[in-house]
Amino acid sequence: MNSQYDIVTIGGGLGGSALAKAMAELGNSVLVLERERQFKDRVRGEFLTPWGVAEARELGIYERVRDNCGIDAPITELGFGPRHLPSTTPQQLPALGFSHPEMQEVVLKAARSAGAEVRRGVTVTAIQVGSDPSVTFQDGETKKTVHARLVVAADGRTSSAREWAAFEAHEKPQPFLFAGLLLNGVNIPEGQSFLLYMPHLAMCTAMTPAGQGRCRTYVAYQDSADFRLQGPDQVTRFLSEAKKAEMVANCFDDATAIGPLASFRCGDFWVEHPYKDGVVLIGDAAATSDPAFGQGLATTLRDVRVLRDCLRADDDWDAAAHAYADQHDRYSQVVRTVNEWFRNIFLEQGLEADDRRARALPLIVEDGTRVPDHLFSGPDLPADDSVKKRFFGED
Ligand SMILES: Cc1cc2nc3c(=O)[nH]c(=O)nc-3n(C[C@H](O)[C@H](O)[C@H](O)COP(=O)(O)OP(=O)(O)OC[C@H]3O[C@@H](n4cnc5c(N)ncnc54)[C@H](O)[C@@H]3O)c2cc1C
Repeated sequence: MNSQYDIVTIGGGLGGSALAKAMAELGNSVLVLERERQFKDRVRGEFLTPWGVAEARELGIYERVRDNCGIDAPITELGFGPRHLPSTTPQQLPALGFSHPEMQEVVLKAARSAGAEVRRGVTVTAIQVGSDPSVTFQDGETKKTVHARLVVAADGRTSSAREWAAFEAHEKPQPFLFAGLLLNGVNIPEGQSFLLYMPHLAMCTAMTPAGQGRCRTYVAYQDSADFRLQGPDQVTRFLSEAKKAEMVANCFDDATAIGPLASFRCGDFWVEHPYKDGVVLIGDAAATSDPAFGQGLATTLRDVRVLRDCLRADDDWDAAAHAYADQHDRYSQVVRTVNEWFRNIFLEQGLEADDRRARALPLIVEDGTRVPDHLFSGPDLPADDSVKKRFFGED
């Protein structure tokens, strides 16, 4: 192992491994440090919306993931009738469903094939920031330090690297939890996903095909509920909560759990300008978006593509990483803003929210184009006050 690299990534999840692949392909020396020897189901995102598929294609990983562990999901249902995504999004692409741990293996393998060095079963324990940044990690009994031109922290929603490098994290927690469970035997049409908000219950049931006949099902529910959808004892309860979405209530008759059940808090957590002192944050480490709106994977791939393009365009990597952080601020702000609008209309509780819905929903049923399409088409769509007013029926 060398002691100096162009890029060292902390984490070999989607963000770390996709960036490693992209930068190794450009001829850079890249080291990926990943804690897990083998990826397991951590209950994460398995539905990549079309704007994320466009980023995945740009990075050369879309077909690999689909062909190895996923499935195109061209049809989606939000409760207003099936929608064909390739003919109704600017990207003209389907969504993609996959098994998350299998996807991680595929993308990490692609990084290695591109020339990145991958060390697994090692845990990063410290970062030294500055003009010659370095990363210290535990490899069995041995502590090692490697230097990099740029340290990329891609260590996920509970990022320690973010703290070590003294980034300030902003938090906007919400009074909801998001549970996920991988199932076999769910009776939904192949290639169809569902995102079914139930404002009257403050709930959402989301389903995505995950390839090989599997279906990832998620349930958003209030954190004040007197139960936690967590662990094997709660699988029956999880299924009965998921069935509250009438449109899919009969799909679970033969369903069996094939993975762990876990709940996560909802809300947005982010860093403004995720670069300083030789350390750049990408993926959930930079901005963990509310899982109830399914934008995390796509945003992670946007981060990777933007960072790659900035580093490719400018030999001064300090300036390039600042340019990435400027762009990140813009698009992640749009993701958060639109998440907030969706929450206001589809999940939020209280009299004000009820009034808002009473005004907005009849108009939406009449004209579905009132619903901003950012979840599927991405943060480059306009997200100004007129878009909000149209969504909220205030125009
Ligand atoms: C319940 C739930 C449902 C979701 N559903 C969706 C969805 O449907 N669609 C969507 O787009 N997004 C969804 N998301 C979000 C999506 O899963 C994340 O945005 C995405 O996985 C982030 O990828 P990442 O590479 O940044 O982080 P991670 O996938 O968390 O990867 C981080 C990696 O870093 C490694 N690591 C961490 N610390 C260290 C260390 N100290 N040393 C070495 N390695 C380390 C970890 O082992 C891991 O492999 C969901 C999230 C949750 C919680």
